[in-house]
Amino acid sequence: MKAVFTDLHKGHDPKRFILRGKFARGEERPERAERLTAGLRAGNHELVPSEAFGQGPRLGVHSVDYLRFMEEAAAEWQTLADASDEVLGNVHPVRRGGTMPQSITGRAGWYMQDMACGIGPDTWLAASSATDVAVTAAELVIEGERAAYALCRPPGHHAYRDAAGGHCFLNNTAIAAQYLRSVHDRVAILDIDIHHGNGTQDIFYDRADVLTVSVHADPSRFYPFFWGYAHERGTGAGEGANLNLPIPVGSGDDAYVAAVEAAAKTIAAFTPGMLVIALGLDASADDPFGGAKVTAAGFRRAGEAIARMGLPTLFVQEGGYLSDQLGPNLTAVLGGFEAAA
Ligand SMILES: [Zn+2]
Repeated sequence: MKAVFTDLHKGHDPKRFILRGKFARGEERPERAERLTAGLRAGNHELVPSEAFGQGPRLGVHSVDYLRFMEEAAAEWQTLADASDEVLGNVHPVRRGGTMPQSITGRAGWYMQDMACGIGPDTWLAASSATDVAVTAAELVIEGERAAYALCRPPGHHAYRDAAGGHCFLNNTAIAAQYLRSVHDRVAILDIDIHHGNGTQDIFYDRADVLTVSVHADPSRFYPFFWGYAHERGTGAGEGANLNLPIPVGSGDDAYVAAVEAAAKTIAAFTPGMLVIALGLDASADDPFGGAKVTAAGFRRAGEAIARMGLPTLFVQEGGYLSDQLGPNLTAVLGGFEAAA
């Protein structure tokens, strides 16, 4: 299938996040894209460049003030005395409402929900280019491709309408799904990243026109901890249009594939015009986050189950971190899809 990609992600190379109380080297590194493009080449997928769609598709999901913060934060941060090279909020208005301050330190805390989303000088370029990658791939499917793949980096599914978090800044999956709503009455999102797609869920939580389904490690012991539970089913008009399928940490191929197959039944009943897959590969047994011990064979089976839904399908890259299996796992899931499509 056609795979959309741009080199504009490269300048975004977050150096640190807080892990177990220590500064750790960021896992969301530019080398991920090299491994993923190697996986695409191994599967004989055709790499095509992204096109620029401007701010319009982003505004379909994110607030104006948040987009402005994302664009301006890195430069304003440098006006602080002795600032680091990355914006990292450390004071957050957790569950207490509050008022937006003028200080960049305060605004960073307002718009960042954790300390795994440092904003460097080139983060806006990378994140905004990633939304173009997603929309370009969406356009390919609108124009008639059975499926397309978007190599988005940084990932997006932990990003809310107005908040970054978990290595994510702009929600590429949500932006693509919202964009697809211009041609389809109903769009379904299936998130198979090992982390719950909390940002995506929140963005569509009160809507009946976008079904959000997520397969992920049980959040009671896994990031993002506070969301991703089975009782979260949507609200208002969106009641019933969100489904979480948590699986035990480390559960392996069968549990993972069974959850994808269960998701497929809910998606079929929703009768969407298109399917967006938030394609995290960090359920891999070899991933540094080690969430579900899924093998390449398991990813291939997941790809087959996705294809059997028979829907025009857009794959949007989410997580999946450095290991020798990162590229082969991408080859496996897309290969499984094409074999069963
Ligand atoms: Zn993840």
